[in-house]
Amino acid sequence: MAEVIRVDSIGVEFSINQHYFHAVDDVSFHIHEGETLGLVGESGSGKSVTSLAIVRLLAKSARVTGTVMYKGRNLLDMTVQEMRQIRGGEISMIFQEPMTSLNPVYKIGAQISETLHLHQRLSKREAHDQVLGMLKKVGIARPEEIMNGYPYQLSGGMRQRVMIAIAMICNPSLLIADEPTTALDVTIQAQILRLMKELSRDYGTSVLLITHDLGVVAEMCDRVAVMYAGQIVEQGTVDDIFFATHHPYTQGLLKAIPKIDVKIKERLQPIDGNVPAITRMPKGCRFSSRCPYVMERCRSEAPAFVDIGERHYSRCWLSAAEGLEK
Ligand code: SF4
Repeated sequence: MAEVIRVDSIGVEFSINQHYFHAVDDVSFHIHEGETLGLVGESGSGKSVTSLAIVRLLAKSARVTGTVMYKGRNLLDMTVQEMRQIRGGEISMIFQEPMTSLNPVYKIGAQISETLHLHQRLSKREAHDQVLGMLKKVGIARPEEIMNGYPYQLSGGMRQRVMIAIAMICNPSLLIADEPTTALDVTIQAQILRLMKELSRDYGTSVLLITHDLGVVAEMCDRVAVMYAGQIVEQGTVDDIFFATHHPYTQGLLKAIPKIDVKIKERLQPIDGNVPAITRMPKGCRFSSRCPYVMERCRSEAPAFVDIGERHYSRCWLSAAEGLEK
């Protein structure tokens, strides 16, 4: 399968008190046609900053380095006008809270058709029919009525369905979904995830799915990149990450989620401590202050991101050696 996007060694720096600090450092991944890559990690790990850097939606004060190759061109070199054409059309986005993404004073139909007008030359009738068809596809009952309604009249789940309609109406090559179900209750979450999976399969859309929820990753993704403190620390297939885990941080994440086959009295094991602030990154391995396997070398030398076999990557001094307890 062809590659849709290749992110190569991107870094993002923010200026704080006239000093630049790396929020994202040396992040690389690619996504094939029709593939879903999960970008997973705790809050503050740099997942959203990475996605905003890809579509050039960060504040002007942010310094972005590296390359983001999309259809043979570097998105980071495109003009503002070129980028506007790509965003929303070829690369679309869904965010966590649909109410803040929808404009409260415009009708739903107008908000979906606006994307069509910006990216395709269609008559009013053609746009109307496409919007109606898309609302049906995302499972909205009474679509004609909803087209003439306003966001406040819809439930959270329906608003997220509308956001998916906006994101998919131009048949994008890549959908970036940033915690798309976090604000929804569990049953609606499952419906929205199923809908995203069906649409990405039907349209052949590649997906970059940003989440802190490993259950969502297991349900939705083909491959996974685990982020910690602005770096990808482990990357591989879903099976690599869940069943051949290498990095101590990924192990910690997996131990912290409840499992259906575990005795009720067995305690979950949280990862002690917090993600370091970007102004206080440790010198060596960024996970060294929380890692149960930390060694002297980890505190002074940063491990490289190495292929540990079959395109399963890890950023840990122990990864190349045997003996890391699973
Ligand atoms: Fe832990 Fe050292 Fe590996 Fe970092 S490099 S994850 S501190 S063992």
